Amino acid sequence: MTYIANAGRYKEMVYNRCGNSGIQLPAISLGLWNNFSDNDAIENQREMVFKAFDLGITHFDLANNYGPPPGSAEKNFGRILKEDMAAYRDEMIISTKAGFQMWDGPYGDWGSKKYLIASLDQSLKRMGLDYVDIFYHHRPDPDTPLEETMAALDQIVRQGKALYVGISNYDAEQTKEAVQILQAQKTPFIIHQAAYSMLNRKIEDGLTEVLEDNGIGCIAFVPLAQGLLTNKYLNGIPKESRAAKDYIPFLNEKDISSNVLQKVKSLNDLAESRGQSLAQMALVWVLQQKSVVSALIGASRASQIEENVRALHQIDFTEEEKKVINEILQ
Ligand code: NDP
Repeated sequence: MTYIANAGRYKEMVYNRCGNSGIQLPAISLGLWNNFSDNDAIENQREMVFKAFDLGITHFDLANNYGPPPGSAEKNFGRILKEDMAAYRDEMIISTKAGFQMWDGPYGDWGSKKYLIASLDQSLKRMGLDYVDIFYHHRPDPDTPLEETMAALDQIVRQGKALYVGISNYDAEQTKEAVQILQAQKTPFIIHQAAYSMLNRKIEDGLTEVLEDNGIGCIAFVPLAQGLLTNKYLNGIPKESRAAKDYIPFLNEKDISSNVLQKVKSLNDLAESRGQSLAQMALVWVLQQKSVVSALIGASRASQIEENVRALHQIDFTEEEKKVINEILQ
């Protein structure tokens, strides 16, 4: 069956300009880190990508190593694009990254030019694309000169393999250094992908300032703390949840401590008093941060995407609500 996108898809979504660049990103973007592997039914993957696009989510975020096995998320997304969505390529912002272990030997990890250029070539093949819209260096490399990694990002743009570049997991100081090099090279560095949620506010410690000062947008990853900032773990670990899946090692029973659950419960009560789910409140909270352009969510089913996009119906917080949230999070 041919996919035909919802004609009303641009009416509900909010689009925010990414730093000083020419592109706007949806306030909510979809990441394919989990649930797009070869362990996951392709039909469910398809349903989630369609649902996202139908709701105005134009931005899909990948990385070379998303899976398992590494590369399978790009391969599966490429299949959906080719089979169902080729007509909509120009309506999408597709990003990928390199920086974590991808293949054996000294050239399949970290930040050398050798690794970044080869990895993006592989990503493009897996996704069946001529170019990505954004290519990121996924994490800082303490052993490669920053000049080399940034030169690789520049070369990728000059080769036409990416339109814009970004960095991810760089702290404030590392970002400042990257900005200097990239600006001198005139590389279109427009975005920083950083962890940010009610349970992880590290970026408020200097990074957001650097981004604002330099006209770089921030896309906030793991805004729901992998599902902790929803009501799903309030009464134990549901069978179908990320924490229950052995093949996803990133969230475990030990992460769901009584201290965290206590905060989550109080936040859940507040969200209910606002007429929102906790997931919705957690997403709009992240978007309050000035430099944050988009909340980069994950999902395991289409209904979660639907619920999360509805968060945009109520984006304001009263001063009292902000105060209560800060007290809960202290
Ligand atoms: P989230 O914090 O949004 O967690 C997503 C998970 O939360 C879902 O898989 C689902 O879990 C649960 N969930 C989502 N919506 C709801 C809802 N409405 N109700 C109940 N549960 C819900 O983000 P992710 O951890 O998935 O990361 C998002 C993206 O961020 C990644 O795909 C990737 O693109 C990016 N990322 C980038 C990193 C980097 O280093 N640059 C690192 C990590 C992520 P369940 O499966 O249990 O249903």
